[in-house]
Amino acid sequence: MSSNDNSSNAYSDFHLQFIGGEWQKGKDDSINTDTNPYNGDTIVEIQQATKDQLDEAYDAADQAQAKWAKTTPAERAAVMYKVVSILDQRQEEIVDWLIKESGSTRIKAMVEFSSARAITLEAASFPNRVHGEIRPSNTPGKENFIYREPIGVVAVISPWNFPLHLTQRSIAPALALGNAVVLKPASDTPITGGLLLAKVFEEAGLPKGLLNVVVGSGSEIGDAIVEHKAPSLVSFTGSTSVGQHIGELANGGEYIKQVALELGGNSPFVVLKDADIEQAVKAAAFGKFLHQGQICIAINRVIVEDEIYDDFVERFLAHVKTLNVGDPSKQDTAIGPIINEKQLKSLKDKIAKAQDEGAKMILSGEIEGQVVPPHIFTEVTREMDLSCNEVFGPLVGIIRAKDEDDALSIANDSMYGLSSAVFTADMQKGLRFARGIRAGMTHINDISVNDESNTPFGGEKNSGIGRFNGEWVLEEFTRTHWISMQNKPRQYPF
Ligand code: NAD
Repeated sequence: MSSNDNSSNAYSDFHLQFIGGEWQKGKDDSINTDTNPYNGDTIVEIQQATKDQLDEAYDAADQAQAKWAKTTPAERAAVMYKVVSILDQRQEEIVDWLIKESGSTRIKAMVEFSSARAITLEAASFPNRVHGEIRPSNTPGKENFIYREPIGVVAVISPWNFPLHLTQRSIAPALALGNAVVLKPASDTPITGGLLLAKVFEEAGLPKGLLNVVVGSGSEIGDAIVEHKAPSLVSFTGSTSVGQHIGELANGGEYIKQVALELGGNSPFVVLKDADIEQAVKAAAFGKFLHQGQICIAINRVIVEDEIYDDFVERFLAHVKTLNVGDPSKQDTAIGPIINEKQLKSLKDKIAKAQDEGAKMILSGEIEGQVVPPHIFTEVTREMDLSCNEVFGPLVGIIRAKDEDDALSIANDSMYGLSSAVFTADMQKGLRFARGIRAGMTHINDISVNDESNTPFGGEKNSGIGRFNGEWVLEEFTRTHWISMQNKPRQYPF
């Protein structure tokens, strides 16, 4: 990969919306002030979009999609390859935006960049991987064909934590498969979650109207995005509560549509007594504190078998104390800022609640600005708030399990089922344990934070519906159409 430091060529004008292939001002009275979560600097002020502009975006998408669906697979793949090449050329510029706008540490920004690049490359293969089927018929003279077609217009709503990747993992497959997109990025990350990608696709020559980025307030356009007649699929990544609301709107409104919901998590990280403790400690620290713990698949509950609990805690504490906290742009910073004041407040409340509930705080530190140093709590029980709810910050509770069965019971004691992990020296035991976990993803001797463009990513229970990546997203972003052909006259009963 090459990098590009040619700043005169850097993308600009991020105060505009991208609708119908044109950069235009938002027409709503309200302003979205995009700030740097580390130093509070204003990055850009964006005049937000109105409902009329949303309609315009959907009209443009609708019209452009019909033509795009008729292009050859090679034409659509070529756009994806071009996007990959532009991402490579602009890697440094993009990584800098992730640090500045989303408070990503340099390590996290690189992880995110690589994931977004990988899914674009995977998407380049999709146009040629779509295939139909011919099925036998019990009706004499009939042939059954099953076609797989683009689904049409896709609404994409994405969150702020991995904005570039979580947006790209929806829009790249959607476009590669012949669909058009109307995207609403999160208000904290309108650039890395949308406008920056619009610039990349525009530079790659994506025809006008196929990708629209609408920056607007939830109250003005949130529900309208979902309820609009145009989209056949709403691809939402975000919290479980908003996902539930979107599911209701999409399936209970005037126009029924499919939903792909990637929601909250509460990943267990289980350390069994025969595990390599040193390796488990390093994994727990990285899987918990990457991006300040603001990842849906971050380790949320560390569950350790009684026999090794004290040893694990001692070594984990020693390791976490070595992590650098502060300016995310510095190469060696492990923990940077929390995204916004609302999230910061929720973490302060969680720290107070954990202490009230009787958890033992063995590591804390002063909160400076939006930077929260790591907090470790021991003797946490499964009933406490730290165990029951998604933390989304650098706070971790360590739960003591009596034995392997107890560890599994604790791991499954959650309304979420996104990712999970188990550490053991015995692979057969690890596999048995992993298969006992009700989750979409389980990693043996690794962290819960894993995402590969060719393996299914998604959750069970309140963590959502549907799977990303590989052929799973290929199915998600297309529709099946059964077409039968009656080759000789059929005999009807009357
Ligand atoms: P959020 O639900 O608050 O917001 C997500 C997106 O929905 C944003 O773009 C927001 O503007 C939009 N939104 C809010 N209200 C809306 C409404 N009424 N109608 C339409 N859109 C609306 O989530 P967040 O705080 O941005 O992200 C954090 C959450 O996302 C966590 O719970 C995390 O676990 C989850 N998440 C899940 C995954 C996954 O793949 N499962 C990945 C990342 C984040």
